[in-house]
Amino acid sequence: MSYLNIDSIKDRTYDAIVIGSGISGGWAAKELCEKGLKTLVLERGRDVQHVTDYPTANKHPWEFEHRGQVPLEIRNQYPNGRASFMREETMHWALKPGEQPFVEEQPFQWTRGYHVGGKSLLWARQTQRWSDFDFEGPARDGFATDWPIRYADIAPWYSHVEKFAGISGNKDGLPELPDGEFLPPIELSCIEKHFQEAITKNYKDRHVIQGRCAHITDPQQIHYDQGRAKCQHRSLCNRGCPFGGYFSSNASTLPWAAKTGNMTLRPHSVVHSIIFDEKKKRASGVRVVNANTSEMIEFYAKIIFVNGSALNSNLILLNSISSRFPNGLGNDSGTLGKYIAWHNYRGRINAEYEGYYDKMTDGKNPSNAYIPRFRNLHKQESDFLRGYATGIGGGRGRLTRQAEIGEELKDALLHPQLGNWNISAWMMGETVPIESNHVRLDPNLKDPYGIPQLVTSVKWTENDDKMVKDYLEQLTEMFTLAGFKNIRGADTHANPGSDIHEMGGIRMGKDPKTSMLNEWNQVHSCKNVFVTDGACMTSTGTQNPSLTYMAITARAADYAVKQLKKRKL
Ligand SMILES: Cc1cc2nc3c(=O)[nH]c(=O)nc-3n(C[C@H](O)[C@H](O)[C@H](O)COP(=O)(O)OP(=O)(O)OC[C@H]3O[C@@H](n4cnc5c(N)ncnc54)[C@H](O)[C@@H]3O)c2cc1C
Repeated sequence: MSYLNIDSIKDRTYDAIVIGSGISGGWAAKELCEKGLKTLVLERGRDVQHVTDYPTANKHPWEFEHRGQVPLEIRNQYPNGRASFMREETMHWALKPGEQPFVEEQPFQWTRGYHVGGKSLLWARQTQRWSDFDFEGPARDGFATDWPIRYADIAPWYSHVEKFAGISGNKDGLPELPDGEFLPPIELSCIEKHFQEAITKNYKDRHVIQGRCAHITDPQQIHYDQGRAKCQHRSLCNRGCPFGGYFSSNASTLPWAAKTGNMTLRPHSVVHSIIFDEKKKRASGVRVVNANTSEMIEFYAKIIFVNGSALNSNLILLNSISSRFPNGLGNDSGTLGKYIAWHNYRGRINAEYEGYYDKMTDGKNPSNAYIPRFRNLHKQESDFLRGYATGIGGGRGRLTRQAEIGEELKDALLHPQLGNWNISAWMMGETVPIESNHVRLDPNLKDPYGIPQLVTSVKWTENDDKMVKDYLEQLTEMFTLAGFKNIRGADTHANPGSDIHEMGGIRMGKDPKTSMLNEWNQVHSCKNVFVTDGACMTSTGTQNPSLTYMAITARAADYAVKQLKKRKL
């Protein structure tokens, strides 16, 4: 290092570095900046400005050249084309061809959103709290390792993030799915209400409720202060919402962090690894590859929040090699990259209802109904561990009519021929983390930035197969009791990852010998590094996980700043 570089080093030194600007990184940025820390947010993808960078947000269906389809010659350029968002209206979110190859030792469908905002622009916005049935699961059922926190530790942080993000829902009073700080719920359709009544009549322990979701149904001052407005029920969310009607980092946390004057957001910055200072026995910064020039540059900070999304955070720690940590940063336990788990979405079931012919759907519904987990909740009652939640959507199909043009078209619009009501349900099962389900670095293959490729080696277990079977049986029974006809259930046998809720690999735990992170999400053996995305999850629960990442992140950021102030970090 030459003396001439001293100023440059100063320019590249911050109080905090946040890796990733998606759901969890956005929260880390907001909380750290609000608490006065000069924070550098490193994002591998391009910038996405709220509103102005949603090119298709206000387009009508007829304005798309290919009516929403992506031409085959373009589609074929994308090896990850089987992933979502290969639609004309959302192609701007698709991963660039060749951006990040990885090795599927076992098939794994890895959906990524590499741009400012990450998958907060792609998600389905379902936001359910965990309960102690989830936090106590590993200890009770004897798998994985015990969580170092319980519901009481995180409950105030759920409230904190819910109020800011804007979560709509109903207070259902269910211990397995605690209530939160809700805006008014989105209404259930008549077929969903019908199902709700049938389930209430026939079961004591099963409940059909409106899914809690991150949509503003009654804006509060805090939402206006963010420049956000009421959800318009356009259901065009994945194009980017110019109203900020749903929560995304771009509409909410990142502009809030920017307003403090403390955030520096650096797109096109692919984090290669974390630098460990062997003398000070702490992380001193990160190495970044400039995605446009391939130049390597270092940034420094007192604390580092790792929020690259679960598998990328694993990759970054695995690639952070030093004499102290030859097997990846903080990997004294040997658990780094292991105990990867996800959600089991393999069970799907559809049916029809012959009735409510005097009713039709009016407008669009950006949410869905939900059945919280009921299996193995109070006691072990089946031949598989843990359980599943269920998402439910119902609507009335339109029968196609031929030759609709001119007078015929007008008539069809005024007197639509509607078919039966349709209802469909999808499974969200907990997978049990096991050591052999892991990710690691390929020793030879590199990505275009010179970073080792990730090897994904995860597969379904017998527990998952049994759970799918039970799900299909139970939902068939429930659909039958509700009087539904033409019930069709199937195991999709989809590959792991297709549920888009991958978790683990850098798990929290009480014991540094069997886990990577303590109860504050600090790496046990490198306390100024915090991992607060899905990688930290000790087990998966059945709830859509992002609300929990938000709450965990805000909690960890609060702790980090307090520790910094006490000069303990
Ligand atoms: C179709 C779909 C529907 C979903 N629906 C729901 C739902 O209803 N409810 C729910 O709870 N969850 C849902 N999810 C999952 C949810 O999107 C993720 O749980 C959430 O986005 C994870 O937040 P994150 O911060 O960990 O990662 P992300 O939001 O993915 O953000 C990670 C960011 O880090 C950046 N990054 C990665 N690696 C690096 C690097 N090396 N250097 C710099 N930057 C890096 C990425 O570019 C990205 O911007 C859904 C996901 C998809 C795809």
